[in-house]
Amino acid sequence: MLQTTRSKSIAEIRAELAEYLNGELIPLERKLGLGYEDRFSRELVGSVWRRCRELGFYGIHLPVELGGRGLPLAQLCLLKDDVAASGAILFPHVLGDWGGPSRIGSLARYATPDQVARFVDPVVQGEMGICFAMTEPHSGSDAASIRTRAVRDGDDFIINGHKHYISASTFADVAITICVTNPDDGARGISALFIDLRAPGVRLDFDCVPMTGQFVDADIHFDNVRVPVANLIGTEGEGLRIAMDRINVNRLLHCPTMIGLARQALRHSIDYAQHREQFGGPISRFQAIQHMLADMATALYACEQMVLATAAKADGGEDIRTEASMCKLFVSERCFEIADKAVQIHGNVGVTRNHPVEFIFRRLRMYRIVTGTSEIQRNTVAKGILL
Ligand SMILES: Cc1cc2nc3c(=O)[nH]c(=O)nc-3n(C[C@H](O)[C@H](O)[C@H](O)COP(=O)(O)OP(=O)(O)OC[C@H]3O[C@@H](n4cnc5c(N)ncnc54)[C@H](O)[C@@H]3O)c2cc1C
Repeated sequence: MLQTTRSKSIAEIRAELAEYLNGELIPLERKLGLGYEDRFSRELVGSVWRRCRELGFYGIHLPVELGGRGLPLAQLCLLKDDVAASGAILFPHVLGDWGGPSRIGSLARYATPDQVARFVDPVVQGEMGICFAMTEPHSGSDAASIRTRAVRDGDDFIINGHKHYISASTFADVAITICVTNPDDGARGISALFIDLRAPGVRLDFDCVPMTGQFVDADIHFDNVRVPVANLIGTEGEGLRIAMDRINVNRLLHCPTMIGLARQALRHSIDYAQHREQFGGPISRFQAIQHMLADMATALYACEQMVLATAAKADGGEDIRTEASMCKLFVSERCFEIADKAVQIHGNVGVTRNHPVEFIFRRLRMYRIVTGTSEIQRNTVAKGILL
């Protein structure tokens, strides 16, 4: 197991990951007859978290003192690409992206020892699920306009508000929640809190179903929810800065997932083009099809290289705010184009509900919105190069 073999090379870790995905997870999904749009039980998801923890994949990028292996971001990108490209339906759970350690991300460094014991450790062990809640119905790109209020009352905060479209909230026990603690201080009046989703006054509703049809996102309502001041992450007023730090890295880390999905679409397309016959032979002999495949492979290569270069910069301690936005913008737009070409190559098969390329098309379309739209990424890039 990985935990006992710290000195393993990234090639060996990738080989072990492939063995788990192809030899265990995908066969399990086939046995259970899982579909993309099924509602996965918390029991099933939790068992994947714990198995991946046991194998050492879950939270592998975390620092050793938090139970990870301190994997550099550039190597984490390779693993994220591998899991997304594998075709496993439950792939976002393998490294801890949905409800796991990746939701905490760089926030972990602000956690007190008490918060590590109550929240970070149980999440790392796969015993607890966590989500990140910032967006509200009226507050998306303009994150500083949130209204969810945290009002001090002795040793507690009283929380009232509504968070919207929160990924992984369907299997989370706790939400990192961004709230207004001082409405007179603008962006500096915003704080981050761990909030127990089982606390009285918390309610989830599942009205927003994304175009992937997956049961992952929910709205969270807080009605006079009492939260100990000990759950404050960092200091009061630091919340937006802490959230944006996390989001910068997350923008980069969404990229290998998109690349892996696009890689899977390209693989299906090459295979289909070589086997589908029209006009007396495989469609791969048509230059029109060859050019689409060539453009897909070229875009994929460009995406992969820019992401690895940016991850290496981040590993070297450089500020990647501008480059992370460049990556999120370029990769989300190019990978969606790759998925579109994959659908085109597959003809009627490609538009058939729940065929892998049809699902990937829907999934990649959402990435041009989540964690900052393409327009917001362009704003960040422009700010970075004009200042
Ligand atoms: C599937 C899914 C999962 C999500 N998961 C989470 C989560 O886990 N946690 C969380 O907190 N949030 C989450 N979100 C919310 C997501 O981060 C927001 O949807 C995103 O930030 C965009 O906000 P918005 O949808 O309100 O769009 P808006 O901000 O209303 O934007 C609408 C349009 O206006 C454009 N626009 C807005 N401002 C500008 C500007 N200054 N310049 C140019 N154009 C602009 C946008 O680019 C867009 O085209 C999720 C959303 C989805 C769809």
